[in-house]
Amino acid sequence: MTSSDELFERARHLMPGGVNSPVRAFGSVGGTPRFMVDAHGPHLTDADGVRYVDLVCSWGPALLGHSHPAVIAAVHEAVDHGLSFGASTPAEGRLAELVMQRVPGVERIRMVSTGTEATMTAVRLARGFTGRDLIVKFAGCYHGHLDGLLAAAGSGLATLALPGSAGVTAATAAETLVLPYNDEAALEAAFAEHGDRIAAVITEAAPANMGVVAPADGFNAFLSRTTTAHGALLILDEVLTGFRTGPGGYWGLTGAREGWTPDLFTFGKVIGGGLPTAALGGRAEVMEYLAPTGPVYQAGTLSGNPVAMAAGVATLTHATDDVYAHIDAASLALQDAVASSLDSAGVDHSIQRAGNLFSVAFGTSRGGVRNYADAQAQEAYRYAPFFHSMLESGIYLPPSVFEAWFLSAAHDDEAMNRIIDALPAAASAAAA
Ligand code: PLP
Repeated sequence: MTSSDELFERARHLMPGGVNSPVRAFGSVGGTPRFMVDAHGPHLTDADGVRYVDLVCSWGPALLGHSHPAVIAAVHEAVDHGLSFGASTPAEGRLAELVMQRVPGVERIRMVSTGTEATMTAVRLARGFTGRDLIVKFAGCYHGHLDGLLAAAGSGLATLALPGSAGVTAATAAETLVLPYNDEAALEAAFAEHGDRIAAVITEAAPANMGVVAPADGFNAFLSRTTTAHGALLILDEVLTGFRTGPGGYWGLTGAREGWTPDLFTFGKVIGGGLPTAALGGRAEVMEYLAPTGPVYQAGTLSGNPVAMAAGVATLTHATDDVYAHIDAASLALQDAVASSLDSAGVDHSIQRAGNLFSVAFGTSRGGVRNYADAQAQEAYRYAPFFHSMLESGIYLPPSVFEAWFLSAAHDDEAMNRIIDALPAAASAAAA
């Protein structure tokens, strides 16, 4: 029995499913989740001392690699001055300015502690600002675990094959219209029918919670035009993509060039560099509707926490163009290696990519995955043997086919070679 086996056995009597977040339980791939005790650079080390090359990167935040010296030093420095002040601090302004330099559409920002809080507040703000009640979301997009956005939500719900969550009232669910992703006609029909009731369309800037699905060319621009035309807001959820797919997030790769800006952005993950920070930001006119200037209430005991702000400031300060160039190149190299291993093993697949994010879908080479129905129709069963073969070789992949693979600036040649060397055996396992 390994230490992880023992720890999991104990944890199951302490926490539902032995975990504090469902996908960590290895439910869809089987086996015992590894209990981690250390994270440095591109590596995670488990309770048995096994060192893995990590392709989860804490589900996104570890853009610079784990325990980047500058981030750890900034956190130490902040901790020496106290953990939480319950008052405004200079560091909040520093992080706000760093975000605004990268994403000029953020004219005002509110720091919160999790991505879920950011999207929850954005939805309330959109309703308060427009005086309308309905929210449009796309099937397969995950925006956190707020009641109204859990229908057909991707991520853990896709992994557990749940259409939505128990505990969400019918009245709440009825205020969310769920549309197929990448389907302009469906959005036009929704606005034709309910246009004067739709407060906002919320979308992942590039979906990465049904596996990665790139928005079709011009799709986000279409969402921006359509919401504006109907007096609704566009909420671009960059919790996962923000400051990861490039300095200006996925908007920086698309909207900045195409000339559109959403009304509200949500951020999480990288913005906190591994500590619990997230944010929403956008047009000043809309953001000023938040308390204390406006009538939409939102607050947080630990919002703008000084230690988390320090981690975020250090992370964004060190997320240079070179960091993005490195991650982009590593991502392309890995996509090629995965594709050629699967080709050699005769495994039908598509590499799903958006910017430097990617995932693998099985049995989908004909058209790739364009929406949640495609994602769910794939040969998902091929992922478990692939995952376990990689794990045996010391590579820690996301324990679900519906999640993106994350790289970092610390994934050097040695780490990349370990991953690439492990692929042929995993591809053969997926073929079986
Ligand atoms: N939005 C997106 C696009 C996400 O990927 C996530 C989490 O994975 C969230 C929102 C929720 O963030 P959190 O888990 O910090 O609540």
